[in-house]
Amino acid sequence: MKSFIEMEEHYCAHNYAPLPVVLVRGEGVYLWDAEGKRYLDMMSAYSAVSYGHAHPRLLRALTEQAQRLAVVSRAYYTDKLPPLLMRACELTHQDRALPMNTGAEAVETALKAARKWGYKVKGVAPEQAEIIVCDGNFHGRTIAIVGFSSEDQYRDGFGPFLAGFKNIPYASTTALEKAITPNTVAFLVEPVQGEAGIIVPPKGYLRECARICHEHKVLLMCDEVQTGLGRTGKLLACEHDGVQPDGLILGKALGGGLLPVSMFLARDEVMDVFTPGDHGSTFGGNPLAAAVALETLDLLVEERLWERSAELGRYFLQKLTTLASPFIKELRGQGLFIGMEINPDCASAREVCERLMRAGILSKETHETVVRFAPPLTITRAQLDWAFTQIKSVLTDLDALHSAA
Ligand code: PMP
Repeated sequence: MKSFIEMEEHYCAHNYAPLPVVLVRGEGVYLWDAEGKRYLDMMSAYSAVSYGHAHPRLLRALTEQAQRLAVVSRAYYTDKLPPLLMRACELTHQDRALPMNTGAEAVETALKAARKWGYKVKGVAPEQAEIIVCDGNFHGRTIAIVGFSSEDQYRDGFGPFLAGFKNIPYASTTALEKAITPNTVAFLVEPVQGEAGIIVPPKGYLRECARICHEHKVLLMCDEVQTGLGRTGKLLACEHDGVQPDGLILGKALGGGLLPVSMFLARDEVMDVFTPGDHGSTFGGNPLAAAVALETLDLLVEERLWERSAELGRYFLQKLTTLASPFIKELRGQGLFIGMEINPDCASAREVCERLMRAGILSKETHETVVRFAPPLTITRAQLDWAFTQIKSVLTDLDALHSAA
């Protein structure tokens, strides 16, 4: 086990700080390390593994398609991409979709669409388009995207950045209204801020944003790369507020935990700004990815996994609130997307994650203070009960350790 860690530390760029565990196998909600120890996956690869590891249906779709036709690029039509696009549009009530691979690419696609829509449809003067984003946002790691991050580390050393972005506080509709100018083309927002530490805005926030955007002819672009496809207890997190965004970004779970698949979806008026040659990706929409994503959407709908997420998320969050540990500063979440904020005077979230790992639960801190619980949506109540017992004993041990010190 140690040798793999040493090898990666030696040969890999140090852009991650993994927990000291070497995973070799996954099935359902469980992962196994090189020594055969089993862990409950409460991380789901940053919400990409919503259906659990090695789901038989998804594996079948993957292997059957891999044997038939995997990658041909968008230079040709295939029999796999059109049904995926149709299904995704029907489910999200959007007119068209543009397939990409990673979340960041789909966000870039949304930004390009918004700017071009601004010039072609809204009538903004050339090079003047403005896009409003939120403090605490996480939309990916490209230079354009980190340029409007409010996180110093994400930006440090990577400038100069792109002009045309304006940051406002998250969950403030007055700030949004104030920030809009005649040149504003879009407001890009996460319905729940994931990487910022599972920040759930007050009920009605998105609905009011939609109203303001509509009034000023500004596109409401929702980044549901992490919150989409059942994670928060609805098919889309926007639905909690009854909002239909002008542009929608999906990723992560769309690939069934097997492949990177993302897409930007929008109304005709927005998507029609793209003409052949404007934008693309070698792998975006390849038949292998499309077959897996289509099976993923079918599975999600047939099993109504968002309902599971809502019910079990409520159950688990409520159970966690009974812990009353001095180590917990706050608990928050929506569906199976839960953040446990650790009191920084007591411990770091990293220390809690390392102890959870030893107790058989894999999570990962986000920032220094938040432990995230985002298991596959297929998790059972009994498995959550087991997780609760482990979390409780980790916090009790920490408490004893600190009281003794
Ligand atoms: N948007 C959101 C809301 C995300 O949470 C993430 C990833 N954590 C991204 C975009 C970027 O996705 P990717 O890492 O696939 O580029």
